[in-house]
Amino acid sequence: MEQKCIYCGKNHDLSESDIIPDALTNARIFNNNVCRIEHNNRFSDMFESKVIEALAFITNELDIKSSKGKNYASYDAVITIEGTDYNLKLHGDNEIFNRRVIKSSDNTQMISSYDKAVKIAKDESKVHPLDVNTIELEKKVKINNAIFFDTAMYRMLSKIAYEWYCSKNNISGYYNEFEDIVKFITTGTGANPVSIIQEMEIYKMIDAEVNLGSHVLLAFEKNNGEIDVIISLFGLLIYRVIVTKNKPNDCSNNFLYTELRTDSSRRELIHHSLDEVQQKFFDILAPKNFVSAGIVNGVSIMIPKKIEPIPNAELYPILFNLIKYFICADEDATGPNEKVNDIFLNQLKNITQASTLQKKSIKRFVNEIFYEGHEKIRLNPQSSNKKATILFYSVYLIGLSQEICLDDRILQKILKEGLECAADAEFIVDDEMENKLKNIMMSDKNYSDVLEKGAEKVKNWKN
Ligand SMILES: [Zn+2]
Repeated sequence: MEQKCIYCGKNHDLSESDIIPDALTNARIFNNNVCRIEHNNRFSDMFESKVIEALAFITNELDIKSSKGKNYASYDAVITIEGTDYNLKLHGDNEIFNRRVIKSSDNTQMISSYDKAVKIAKDESKVHPLDVNTIELEKKVKINNAIFFDTAMYRMLSKIAYEWYCSKNNISGYYNEFEDIVKFITTGTGANPVSIIQEMEIYKMIDAEVNLGSHVLLAFEKNNGEIDVIISLFGLLIYRVIVTKNKPNDCSNNFLYTELRTDSSRRELIHHSLDEVQQKFFDILAPKNFVSAGIVNGVSIMIPKKIEPIPNAELYPILFNLIKYFICADEDATGPNEKVNDIFLNQLKNITQASTLQKKSIKRFVNEIFYEGHEKIRLNPQSSNKKATILFYSVYLIGLSQEICLDDRILQKILKEGLECAADAEFIVDDEMENKLKNIMMSDKNYSDVLEKGAEKVKNWKN
């Protein structure tokens, strides 16, 4: 079939459009039927870059960065040190003092390495030494939650839903049935097709099924032919996008699921309809798929016939339930309210406090803290940073371990054994746990050396 832009029908100068902006996912997905300038590049300036910039703190927490850039996106933070505020642009939360000069918000104080400070002040008596390992340090990050209810966000979500649905249906060219959503994406005017799911149980169901920080896309058809796409953005908020009230006949795949994880792996399902897939799924459980294995004490024993296993079978029952809810629910929010804000804060807390104990985040942490020529690590009992503490503790465990070379399996083993010693059943990093982990490390008089040893092993861990 001839390739044409799904927004304007143009058949030349087409490009590969990142359905979800590259800076917001480590697992890229594409639609190839989008013209290069008008409906790909321009969207970036029109709404995508605004969203990307506002979500920099989240993408940093999840170790997500654009495949094009070298650095993680920067975000604004206020660090309070000995009562003075310092405004900083941070890339990751571990590099506050990393070889730079920082100025206080009122421009009266400056922090840098001692040598540099003396050079700048030209007078050693004006320089006041600070021990970064013992000073009290408070970091505040302003999360611009307004972005989640901004037209730029709604346009981006509409674009994601539309391009994804079209790509799964091999749509080429523009169809009138998509007039409303195309108008909203391209101009930001007309009816907003996006609403917000405000049922906490739905968030819990999805959280239980997918990895932390994943994006989830789910498409289904309502009885009246309307196509909805549900988008869970990092698990922070779940949105519903009405792609069309009336689908074109060419769209035959209307039960779609894509899950994009932060480690770039994914799960995907593609079927014609909910009815078809329910039929398929329950057929497997039907009596005709069982054969008699004989009669024992008068009871006939039936065993399942050998059948092809369905990939991702565990997902289907959950999706059936979710779709049942989404088809009937008419209580979506159209903007922020108390309920939505509570959900958002709760989900944000989960993401920022959960330990992201995977290779990528540990490697990044070690590169930022244990850089060439860094000072010996001494933990600061006064400062609180749960993510850093759990990462320090992980490096400490790696340092203690007899294993010389790391791989994913060995890392998980080391962490599991080490964390089980610290926690009884569930591992929740609250203030108490943070202090406990710090105390375990600091009561070991060699802990600084153990950390170095652990960091060395992490650095030697080849990709
Ligand atoms: Zn176009």
